[in-house]
Amino acid sequence: MNSITTGSNCTRCGKPRFAVSTHEEKIDNSVVTFTQWECKDPECQKEVNKELKNEKNKRKNILKEQQKREEDRKKVIEEKKLQRLKEK
Ligand SMILES: [Zn+2]
Repeated sequence: MNSITTGSNCTRCGKPRFAVSTHEEKIDNSVVTFTQWECKDPECQKEVNKELKNEKNKRKNILKEQQKREEDRKKVIEEKKLQRLKEK
């Protein structure tokens, strides 16, 4: 049931992965163990790391995009408010 203790295979090459590090974090009063898995193939792991980095960047960009849109929306609302004030 617990995939953290049983380990898993690399999603890229299917080779078994091994735990390189574990750390515990307290989440909502329960301790959760996070394990960092790495592929046995260092070349493959390099690719995995690259993909992870890309994913992170993508997520960051999406977040930035959302924040920008939110700011634009606020700006439009503010401008409309100002417009209305001017019209009065
Ligand atoms: Zn691999």
